[in-house]
Amino acid sequence: MMRFTDKIAVITGGGSGIGAATARLLAREGANVVVVDLALEAAQAVAADVGGLAIAADVADRHAVEAFVAQTVAAHGRIDILVNNAGIGCFGRTPDLEPDTWERVIAIDLNAVFYACRAAIPHMTGRKTAIINTASISGLAGDYGFTAYNAAKAGVINYTRSLAIDHAREGIRVNALCPGLIATPLTAGATAMPGLEPDWHDTIPMGRPGTAEEMAEVIAFLASDAASYVTGSIIVADGGQSAWTGQPNIMRYAAAAAESIVA
Ligand code: NAD
Repeated sequence: MMRFTDKIAVITGGGSGIGAATARLLAREGANVVVVDLALEAAQAVAADVGGLAIAADVADRHAVEAFVAQTVAAHGRIDILVNNAGIGCFGRTPDLEPDTWERVIAIDLNAVFYACRAAIPHMTGRKTAIINTASISGLAGDYGFTAYNAAKAGVINYTRSLAIDHAREGIRVNALCPGLIATPLTAGATAMPGLEPDWHDTIPMGRPGTAEEMAEVIAFLASDAASYVTGSIIVADGGQSAWTGQPNIMRYAAAAAESIVA
């Protein structure tokens, strides 16, 4: 399948995890990929693999965002696909969270999406183009100690709807992906905490984390013509996690009770 022949795709956070898998998939199907990342070497490694362009930029800096959009347009003349994917997390309940940390998370996870869309939309309008924002199921509900991340990702979700409405008649489709737990460097630190990984997997009906490649497949669908009537949608890919209320798995207790009765 070659869904993206000659398309120009910009992917932020393209040096690792979901962004790197997306860069590889879109490039494999014909896209000219621009890999943007704070970590230049990581961006260069992915870009070298896929014959793309690597650009170092801090997406929290609006001038840096404007510069990578301008550099892309100078190199390729337009942008067809924009994947706003760079992101960071943080832990800490409100009284313990430094305002600087809050501001940095909001800047990278939310403000950057606005900066990139503001700069790129003039180069995406009047044709069939697509923006995909990587949000999170943590934008749909709250988590213990995720404060700034919960706020930023919820902002990305409703901003996605706003963008979709404003630009639908210009040919720009805008959708958000809400991953659940995905095995990437972002979550490696957390899942390495003693005891956390099995407990976390236990909250996922499918019983396992997703992969970056599985997320790339969803992003590619949203970027493709197959999604031509899909805009303003919030697509969840979480192994069933957010379908669950969080109440205990009564079936386990029922099975144990039945066993004790038999015994
Ligand atoms: P990752 O850490 O593997 O990749 C994120 C990339 O973003 C890294 O290459 C990093 O260098 C880059 N980055 C970070 N700050 C940046 C900045 N200021 N400017 C430019 N680049 C920057 O993480 P991932 O899991 O692939 O995450 C990708 C996106 O998916 C993020 O927005 C994250 O919030 C979201 N997400 C991830 C999960 C998960 O479980 N992994 C779940 C839900 C949502």
